[in-house]
Amino acid sequence: MVEVGESSGAKNSQEIWAKLVSLDSRYSDVDISSDEIVICSEIRSSCVDKHEWCKISRNSDLCSATVQNMSSNAILVNGAVVQNEDTIVIKCGSEIVPGPDREGYLSYRFEVMPRSEIRMKQLKISVDVEHAKCSICLNIWHDVVTVAPCLHNFCNGCFSEWLRRSQDRHSRVLCPQCRAVVQFVGRNHFLHNIAEDIIKADPSLKRSDEEVSLLDSYALIQSNLVIGSRKDPSRKRAHLLVDEENDGIDLPCPQCGTELGGFRCNQNTVHLQCNACGGMMPSRTDISIPQHCLGCDRAFCGAYWRAQRLTRGDLHSICSHEAFKPISERTISRIPDAVHENNRHERDITERCIIQMGKTLQDVISDWVVKLNNREIDRTRMPLIHAEMISAATHICNDCFDNLVSFLLYWFRISMPKHLLPSDAPKREDCWYGYSCRTQHHSEDHASKLNHVCRPTRGTNM
Ligand SMILES: [Zn+2]
Ligand SMILES: [Zn+2]
Ligand SMILES: [Zn+2]
Ligand SMILES: [Zn+2]
Ligand SMILES: [Zn+2]
Ligand SMILES: [Zn+2]
Repeated sequence: MVEVGESSGAKNSQEIWAKLVSLDSRYSDVDISSDEIVICSEIRSSCVDKHEWCKISRNSDLCSATVQNMSSNAILVNGAVVQNEDTIVIKCGSEIVPGPDREGYLSYRFEVMPRSEIRMKQLKISVDVEHAKCSICLNIWHDVVTVAPCLHNFCNGCFSEWLRRSQDRHSRVLCPQCRAVVQFVGRNHFLHNIAEDIIKADPSLKRSDEEVSLLDSYALIQSNLVIGSRKDPSRKRAHLLVDEENDGIDLPCPQCGTELGGFRCNQNTVHLQCNACGGMMPSRTDISIPQHCLGCDRAFCGAYWRAQRLTRGDLHSICSHEAFKPISERTISRIPDAVHENNRHERDITERCIIQMGKTLQDVISDWVVKLNNREIDRTRMPLIHAEMISAATHICNDCFDNLVSFLLYWFRISMPKHLLPSDAPKREDCWYGYSCRTQHHSEDHASKLNHVCRPTRGTNM
């Protein structure tokens, strides 16, 4: 099964400067954010094929645009017939009909966003490029990490290499820039976006693909790491109850000071903080037990401590095995709320559909996990970071499992023959915007009348 037609416009992050406002409130507006955009759409809701309909190019006066008819039909612009390949200038308020006749076609009004609104949205802070450079490699940060407490920033690869060398030779890790002792390092997503914007604005600052992939191969830091000199663990334990009220970062690691499974942390050991319980575990590259969720890259301790045969105790914060375990060992009894883009009408149909088939949610999910494992499902829309690496044996966290269940229930629904749906469901026509429809989130009427568990067949940039 292959999924197509998710979006017909080029992906870009520019501001929306104009819109095609649908004059039929059942259909969403089309946002226009690039200077040139091809609008694809189907002409009738019953037909699944997409056609190129027209190309809209922004004019240099920034308040009008040129429309070129890309469809085989004539189209109407302000009542004038525009033949195939012909162009016409449109202004704010122009009416466009994607066919030769107002009857039977949707009408759109072209609206240009007020300039002040655009300017407001594009308000940018200016950054001195020199302040966005890594002091190790002297380039613009790549995959930037921030160390604490001094808050200096480096490329993930550069700092990881520094960390590796420091740990081989010294008892403490010092900041390469100011020599302060580093206690903590984490990826900095805010600065990451700034670095990307700088490179977009000046592509000459971009490194070669070879340099970037070499740097990435050094990068160790996935989730936040706590580094180095642990405080005396026995003292720490005595104060655990008090410490739990604090930020959680200093919760002791069970392997600090105690040998478990042939391993004991030393003062150079890098620690990971579990995202479920806040407890610490050593970051281990010498064993194959998963410590990160492949769906979200966050660290979880459940599988690690299970492999060390450590069970929950009073002294340490550790997760139960349940919080981080293989997909094949997971059970589910309730449909996640976020299923079908949070559309409760669709959720209700899916629920009744499963009951009507005489199955349980668990039966359905087990069947679809088998299909996933056999690579029978297209993973393009799978909401997990390392989607291609995921199999039934993969450990994932609870949040990612909910996301996976929602993804599988989408496939369950779209591959379901209509006659097997609850009797009220097949009467609903597909919304042209499918799962991407925004109207389904604010119009109950629209959400209940049209089916949204389907692929978008028109619209752009959604
Ligand atoms: Zn660097
Ligand atoms: Zn520093
Ligand atoms: Zn430890
Ligand atoms: Zn996860
Ligand atoms: Zn944990
Ligand atoms: Zn819709």
